Amino acid sequence: MICKGQLELDEMVKQAQKSTINGKVANYIPALAKAERDVLAVSIFDGADLCFVAGNSEERFTLQSTSKVLTLALALMDCGEDKVFKKVGMEPTGDPFNSISKLETQIPSKPLNPMINAGALAVSSLIKGRTVEEKVQYLLAFIHKLSGNNKITYNKEVAQSEYETADLNRALAYFLKQHHIIDGDVNELIDFYTKQCAIELTCNDLARIGYVLANEGRCADGQEVIPFEIARLVKTFMVTCGMYNASGEFAIKVGIPAKSGVSGCILGAVPNRLGIGIYGPSLDEKGNSVAGMKLLELLAEHYHLSIF
Ligand code: GLN
Repeated sequence: MICKGQLELDEMVKQAQKSTINGKVANYIPALAKAERDVLAVSIFDGADLCFVAGNSEERFTLQSTSKVLTLALALMDCGEDKVFKKVGMEPTGDPFNSISKLETQIPSKPLNPMINAGALAVSSLIKGRTVEEKVQYLLAFIHKLSGNNKITYNKEVAQSEYETADLNRALAYFLKQHHIIDGDVNELIDFYTKQCAIELTCNDLARIGYVLANEGRCADGQEVIPFEIARLVKTFMVTCGMYNASGEFAIKVGIPAKSGVSGCILGAVPNRLGIGIYGPSLDEKGNSVAGMKLLELLAEHYHLSIF
């Protein structure tokens, strides 16, 4: 069992940490640019204990794109598959997460999948609530259940600067509106989306969330928070699209359903075994945590965690 080998795990973390020099922290907003490049923290939850933690697993970071997994689960629970997949497809893309190009050439004209920004915006437009604040509170309540931590909220400074610099996301949203994939006010959708990206938590929280997905939608106490079928569907998207346009190589080298965010976090779910939360803000050119991916590769190899 993983908890037995703390020393060898510490060794893997040290080894993975060396790769932080090969990346850089996101700098499109000041709050993310402040992150320390060499940080690497990890937390692994097996349903009973946080059986392995390394680095500062209590350090807070924002979810960014990792939030797309959670809004997808919530939208599927509320609206059902037919309504969600009318707005967004199921195919991976070889393009960067914020690419606009395929929107115009893709037939039918809808975002390829819910893990790229265009698809995530379409999914976020389905979250219930009369106002942006109601939607945010509704999503937070879901995250509180998944993580068992009622204190999780969003970082206002990050949300504000995301909102002010989200013109590419606005462009994507206007395109979607023109093509009747979303309706309503674009700036309200961007307000909600940037707040969802700014939800702030720790590796320990992320590991517990990953565990629920790994455990077919049930928390460690057996309570079902996500129906089995939706947890399965979400994990499948994590495999095919979770690491953006690096998902293929990641599936081969690691083989764990995972989702990354530009803050440097990675949410991992090893089916029926473990939830993993990682924070390592040094990113490669595709926006994935370099040391985080390296660590997952080492863990997967050593403990045979690949699902393939
Ligand atoms: N806030 C970022 C954006 O929408 C999140 C992207 C990401 O984590 N890749 O551009």
